[in-house]
Amino acid sequence: MRGRIKKEQGLAVAVSGGKDSAVLLHTLTKLRKKFPINLLAISIDEGTHYRAQLIECAKELCEMLEVKHVVLSFKGIIGKNLDELVNENIKACTVCAIVRRRLLDLVATLTNSKLAVGHNLDDIAQGVLMNLLRNEPQRLKRMFFPIIKPKMPGRLRPLMWIDERATLTYAFLHELPFMHKKCPYSHRNVIRTQARELLQQMSLTLPSAKIGLVKSALTLAKHLPLTYEEKRCEKCGHWTSGEICKVCEIIETFGLEKAEMWEEKIKDRLGI
Ligand code: SF4
Repeated sequence: MRGRIKKEQGLAVAVSGGKDSAVLLHTLTKLRKKFPINLLAISIDEGTHYRAQLIECAKELCEMLEVKHVVLSFKGIIGKNLDELVNENIKACTVCAIVRRRLLDLVATLTNSKLAVGHNLDDIAQGVLMNLLRNEPQRLKRMFFPIIKPKMPGRLRPLMWIDERATLTYAFLHELPFMHKKCPYSHRNVIRTQARELLQQMSLTLPSAKIGLVKSALTLAKHLPLTYEEKRCEKCGHWTSGEICKVCEIIETFGLEKAEMWEEKIKDRLGI
């Protein structure tokens, strides 16, 4: 882990208020005693009513672990909350993931940090299964071997080999403040829900199913040729595989402020 963070870099940790990111932050603070790392916790508030309680858990956790915590809300940075960004053509999870990823990347870039996220083995196995079923092998490649892009923070997933039950047990044993609540939009992500159920079912008869799937995908991805390229978005200059990035598409669709303004507001929130 230390080898993946340059000496002068910090580590921005996405903290949702759920168990996985609580475990991630807790283990990182333990590591901090051995290898000094400058930690910054970031919570993104999409504006759904369930997130407010999760943010309270995230605040309590950061106070307990003495980690600086920054909360960025969709409303405060991009001008609308998630409920206002959903229409018949765009699913909540799609827009939520795109905007949240950009906000996290911006914080990490602006603070010269790598970004650590709490994705566990179950999350990764579901993603792998979905990409295979959709016949999207390049997404697998991107998942495990992303192109290193200048001025992009780079993402670490330290819990990717840890299964959900283990993170839950750890969180309980260490009495970490977290909330096990489902986002009101999660049931609309039918494919992920079915992938989760299928993998749970498989694991009953083959306990190594999830780890086996992820390891196989990793081997496949290693040997896949890279057939996509990343270029600069014509509008905001961010990295994208198309002409215009997904964030700028969302900005156009919903008439939001330009992405440069998001950066200014985040700088303001970070006091830099
Ligand atoms: Fe966002 Fe979908 Fe996750 Fe809810 S379930 S937080 S809408 S990605």
